[in-house]
Amino acid sequence: MTSTEIKISKNLENGIKFSCQMCGDCCRGFKEGEVYLYKDDILRLAEYLHITGLKGLRNFTNKYVKVINDSFFWKDPKSQSGKTYRFKTLGFAFTGTDEHCHFLKNNKCTVHEARPFQCRCFPFWQMMVKSKKNVIAYAKKCPGLRESLKGNGKYYSREEIEKWAKAEYSIEEKYFLEMKKNNFNILKVYPFLSEEKLQEDN
Ligand code: SF4
Ligand code: SF4
Repeated sequence: MTSTEIKISKNLENGIKFSCQMCGDCCRGFKEGEVYLYKDDILRLAEYLHITGLKGLRNFTNKYVKVINDSFFWKDPKSQSGKTYRFKTLGFAFTGTDEHCHFLKNNKCTVHEARPFQCRCFPFWQMMVKSKKNVIAYAKKCPGLRESLKGNGKYYSREEIEKWAKAEYSIEEKYFLEMKKNNFNILKVYPFLSEEKLQEDN
């Protein structure tokens, strides 16, 4: 969470070719990253898994979710300058020595239809679309990106890439503004998150 506008790197000006190989490699080994979860992601997953009520959501959160410290650059429309805010957000907790997502089974996503936005919009994350360096770095992990760098895969136009990256920014902005309104108290934004869980993860 960092940017105020979507920058598209030169190499994506004319679009990109990319096809996911469904290898599951991006669903494990999270030492270098997180899978962020926002309210819509959690509610979509809960519905898919037939989880209902506050207690159900609390159990889901205790088992599959962790609290992450995050940051977001924000400039109020009336202000001359902005600043970076630090606050808490939610993401998947990982499991096993290879730190895999709980929903990865036999290298397949078992919640594919209800997967979080961040999984859905890969590789068109803001940090990827603004920097070829990040694409090259992530290609070490992702065979779909390795093929993409050779010019192979399904074609996505610049407009499509921009649409995904903008959608990611909008989700982050919406969450930030909700947190700001609630004095950055995550328990107010997510009433199903328990105090114990919050303390445990920090
Ligand atoms: S939800 Fe699915 S796609 Fe996302 S990290 Fe977990 S297994 Fe991978
Ligand atoms: S690592 Fe790349 S190719 Fe493999 S599942 Fe993830 S996005 Fe698809």
